[in-house]
Amino acid sequence: MRVPLLDLKAQYASIRQEIRCALDRVTESQRFILGPETENLEHEIAAYCRCSYAIGVSSGTDALIAALMALNIRPGDEVITSAYSFFATAGAIARVGAKPVFVDIDRTYNIDSAGIEARISARTRAIIPVHLFGRMAGMTPIMKIAQRHHLPVIEDAAQAIGAESDGLRAGSIGHFGCLSFFPSKNLGGFGDGGMVTTNDASLAERVRLLRNHGFRTKYYSELLGGNFRLDEIQAAVLRVKLKYLDGWTEARRRNAGFYRESLAKADFLELPSDEAANSRHIYNQFVIRTARRNELRTHLNQEGIGCEIYYPAPLHRQPCFEVLGHKTGDFPISEAASGESLALPIYPELTPAMLQHVANAIVRW
Ligand SMILES: *Cc1c(COP(=O)(O)O)cnc(C)c1O
Repeated sequence: MRVPLLDLKAQYASIRQEIRCALDRVTESQRFILGPETENLEHEIAAYCRCSYAIGVSSGTDALIAALMALNIRPGDEVITSAYSFFATAGAIARVGAKPVFVDIDRTYNIDSAGIEARISARTRAIIPVHLFGRMAGMTPIMKIAQRHHLPVIEDAAQAIGAESDGLRAGSIGHFGCLSFFPSKNLGGFGDGGMVTTNDASLAERVRLLRNHGFRTKYYSELLGGNFRLDEIQAAVLRVKLKYLDGWTEARRRNAGFYRESLAKADFLELPSDEAANSRHIYNQFVIRTARRNELRTHLNQEGIGCEIYYPAPLHRQPCFEVLGHKTGDFPISEAASGESLALPIYPELTPAMLQHVANAIVRW
């Protein structure tokens, strides 16, 4: 039996007709950029994320860049973020000319809020917590620290659409939330796409201008922005998929429950830590840990099971950030996670037999 890490064909097969209708709607209209599909998707995503505004953009990376630009973050500024994330979190900070200042993670793989204050300096301009793998960072302490220091917070919610913490949704707590619709995210398009969420009308307006060269009136640039636009084909596909997202999320959560139960006896493994009360983990990834990670990975591949290392290098060890002068040992929990973590297939369309095959392959190892 083969169990891939992700099977988008299985998802597509379940919604093919609806997607084709949506694509037809766009191709018949021949309206491809910033039209009714994008506008409707923006309202639907804002409602889903329980926030006031959502602005469609070209990717999760551009969502982060547009949010940083809207806050006027520039060269000489510092932005605090997690040392353990997909590259784009720190890449976006550096792309606007600012310096990423890292904080180590805790056992949930999210930023350890107890480490933030020590990294705040006179140049700090924002904090970007990441809701990694679909679990929200502890936003209550982070928002308290941010308020005490008058710093805006950008939630990197690229992996966490619909996740909740203390009853609040990802992207609705900070000044901005940034979503990605990269195909492997829980809500994925047929290409790149992203969204910026906010509850602040004037920040929403700035992002709206920035994503289209600062045009309020066509061909008059009020702000130096860029082309960060979402296209109508992506928006049309995403509107179909959004209707199924909660069902898919529940299936991911059920799959996670199955793994938790069936892997409990594998005492050489560390499973994802338990969900906090009043929260919702959406399991973009189900990440286990073991000191013998590379051997386990080889074994699973031999059993026909897809698995992946997220991420083989923490952000302070990325070659392009050598200029920041970090060394091994600076963020030990992130470094350990890079050496030990392994993501298992968790996608909604996994069958009970596939889940059992993965669990057996691990337990019998
Ligand atoms: C995917 C991802 C991004 C970037 O999103 P893209 O749409 O691929 O540009 C940013 N941050 C995190 C944590 C991500 O997982």
